[in-house]
Amino acid sequence: MKLATGTTVISNGQLIDGNGGPPVRDGAVVVKDGKITYAGQAKLTPEVPPDARRIDARGGSILPGLVEAHFHPTYFNVAALEDLDIKYPVEYVTLLAAHNAKLALECGYTAARSGGSLFNIDVWLKKAIDSDIAPGPRLASSGREICGVGGLMDWNPDFRKLGMEGLVLLVNGPDEARAAVRKLVKDGVEWVKTYPTGDAAAPDTNDHHTLCMTFEEMHAVVATAHNHGLKVTGHCRATQGIKNALRAGYDAIEHGTFMDDEALELLLKRDVPCVPALQFEYASIVFGPEFGMSQAVIDGHKETLEGGAESARKILKAGGRLGMGGDYGFAWTPHGTYAKELTFFVKHVGLSPMEVLKCATKTGAEIMGRSKEFGTLEAGKLADVLVVDGDVLANIAILEERSKFVAVMQGGEVKAGTCSMP
Ligand SMILES: [Zn+2]
Repeated sequence: MKLATGTTVISNGQLIDGNGGPPVRDGAVVVKDGKITYAGQAKLTPEVPPDARRIDARGGSILPGLVEAHFHPTYFNVAALEDLDIKYPVEYVTLLAAHNAKLALECGYTAARSGGSLFNIDVWLKKAIDSDIAPGPRLASSGREICGVGGLMDWNPDFRKLGMEGLVLLVNGPDEARAAVRKLVKDGVEWVKTYPTGDAAAPDTNDHHTLCMTFEEMHAVVATAHNHGLKVTGHCRATQGIKNALRAGYDAIEHGTFMDDEALELLLKRDVPCVPALQFEYASIVFGPEFGMSQAVIDGHKETLEGGAESARKILKAGGRLGMGGDYGFAWTPHGTYAKELTFFVKHVGLSPMEVLKCATKTGAEIMGRSKEFGTLEAGKLADVLVVDGDVLANIAILEERSKFVAVMQGGEVKAGTCSMP
């Protein structure tokens, strides 16, 4: 991705640098050739060339670009999971994914880690974004998702002959798990997404169902992936499944719904980040009936939401790391509403806005393995900056309103926001 040239000064707003400390009330950020050269008090701003571009934060907030830590650009707002594989061909899904990536950037998300991809679209979407062919967040790509035969992602009985080859690699045993990872290695992914446990949403599993993959399969996935420098994450709700993933050497945990003390200890021991994705549960409970969800499924989502919120609070209190990623791309959690996750964590889980913003910026960049490049507003980092007309610490829900964005800056280039309008 190209870096902007020249100097830009962003001022007249509170500076939230992403490290979680108190904001600088009257802050400023100086950007030179796409990188931050100064972030601090406005009155201490170093001298800049007279032709420097100025961005007025209008008394609002200057913060790092947001990082969506569980992004599915290829999920096209489906009401039924099988629609992912049978509704459109790969050609059209690719166009939808490019559209979703552009939307995420416009929503202030300057980076994102994929939580699983249809076909091998993410890898090529990332290339298009990195080559400035398509706008979007800096992407950490994943590929087809690995699941055991008969597990969460293998819910269609064989007589339907649906295939699902665009979405999942179904495995039986460690040898097939190794083969699936090797295929992903050849595909060029960075993250291997797996399904160790069930989910309230799936017809033949539930949120306490552990064995969508065996420990041996999970261990084979991790050993093969790490051997090739890839990272592994997994959909982990059930307690035993979380422990299996942590003992197998997973690099991140998605959801981490039912964490007991032992699971928490395993998580903290290696400082493994967890991405709860809780607004999805809330939206499923509220809007599920409109989409034909049964009461049993909705009750499962309620249990998942309570368990997930409790676990998230425990992790953060114990000094662990949470990423903010919302699993968007379902009919009741459409693309473009990503910041609802942040609001949910403040309003319903009880985190402070500053805690949530740190999770959504610095921790997100750490999960992507790129915290040296972005995630905080500090000299030397890429100028991925979000400038908002409003106090996001007083009302984090402002981040849901794109009309309040003065600038979404990526590598010093203003990619969206009212200041870029003619
Ligand atoms: Zn997901």
